[in-house]
Amino acid sequence: MRRYFTFLLLVSICFMAKAGNIDDKLPIRGFAIEAPSHRGVDQFLRFINQDLAPAKVNLLILRVDWNFAYKTHPELSDENPLTQDDVDKLVAACKEHGIRLVPQVNLLGHQSWAKQTHALLREYPQFDETPSIKTEDYTKWPNPYGLYCKSYCPLHPDVHKVVFDVVDEICDAFQADAFHAGMDEVFYIGMDECPRCHGKDRSELFAGEVTTIHDHLASKGRELMIWGDRLLDGRTTGLGEWEASYNDTWRAIDMIPKDILICDWHYERADLSAVYFAMKGLPVATCGYRDPDLSVQQVKDMIQFRSQTTRETKGYLRGYIHTIWSSAGGFLRGYYGDYGNRPPRPDQPRRPDTSIQSAKSVLTFFKQLAEEE
Ligand SMILES: [Zn+2]
Repeated sequence: MRRYFTFLLLVSICFMAKAGNIDDKLPIRGFAIEAPSHRGVDQFLRFINQDLAPAKVNLLILRVDWNFAYKTHPELSDENPLTQDDVDKLVAACKEHGIRLVPQVNLLGHQSWAKQTHALLREYPQFDETPSIKTEDYTKWPNPYGLYCKSYCPLHPDVHKVVFDVVDEICDAFQADAFHAGMDEVFYIGMDECPRCHGKDRSELFAGEVTTIHDHLASKGRELMIWGDRLLDGRTTGLGEWEASYNDTWRAIDMIPKDILICDWHYERADLSAVYFAMKGLPVATCGYRDPDLSVQQVKDMIQFRSQTTRETKGYLRGYIHTIWSSAGGFLRGYYGDYGNRPPRPDQPRRPDTSIQSAKSVLTFFKQLAEEE
C-alpha cells in the first residue's frame, strides 16, 4: 500500500513538473527574420548560438526567397546568393540547439516591392495576375492601380511546375520538414483582367492555392506554414486591409486543410485572434514585432489562453513567433551595436529601433520562462 502511495506521489510530482515545463507553457518559441546574406552568415551563426539558443527558441523561420543558388532555376537566384555550404552551417547550428529551421519563399503575393518586380515575375511575366499594371509606375500607396505587391496567377497552368521546383529544392537544402509560403497581404487575386481568375470567388481561389501548396508539401511529408491575414475579415474586426482582408478572401478559413500552422501577426495591438483560429481547429502561433511591451503581452496572452481552455483547444494554440522585417544584417548591427567604422552622420542621428529592443525583450522573457521551471 505504501509503495502504491509513493508511486502516486511520484506520478503527481512528474505531472506538476510537466505542467510547469516551458514546452507545455509555450510549445512554439519562434523567431522569423530575413535569411542572412552570403557575407553575413558568420554573424548570423553568432546570433543563433549566443542569443536564440540560450533563449530556448525552437523555431527559426528564414525568409530566403531568391537568396539561394538554386540549381533547378538559376535564373531566379539573386546575385551572390547563399550557397549550400552557407545553408549547411545554419542547419548544423540549428540542429545542435534543437531549433527547427524552416525556409520561407513568398508565394502568391509579394512578387514585387515598389518599383521592383521580383525574380519569378521578372523571368516568367506570363504568370503575372495583372500584366497591365507596371511596377515601374509605382509611386506610393495609395495609388490608382491599387498596386502594393504583385501576385502570380494561381490558375496559370505552368506556375506550380516552377514554384514547386523551388520549394522542393529549398526544403531539401535546409533539410526542412516544414516550409513557410508567406501568402500575406495578397491584394491582387481574382482580378478582372486575368482570363483564368476573372469572376471567380476570391476565397475559393485563395483556399485553392493554399491547398495546392499544402498537398504538394504533404506528399513529401512536410508541413505548411502561412501568415494568417487573408483569413481574417478586415471590416468586421476593424483590423483593416493589411493585417486582415478587405478583398473577400477570409471565408477561405473554412476551406483549407486543418494541419497548416497559421502565423497570426498583429503589430499594433495584442489582438486575440489566435483564439478564433484555434476554435476553427487550425494550429496557430501569435506573431509580434516592434513594440516591446505589446510583444511580451502577446506571449503572455498565448500562455494565458493555453492555461484557460480545453485540452483540445490548447492543442491548437501553439505559441509565439517574433518577427523582424528589416534586413538580417541591419537588425544584427543594431542588436549588437556593431556599426564597424561607420559612425552615424551628424545630420542623420541613428534613431532607436524599437524592433531591436522588442526582440531583446521577447528573448529575455523566453529565458525567464525557462528559468521558472
Ligand atoms: Zn489569374
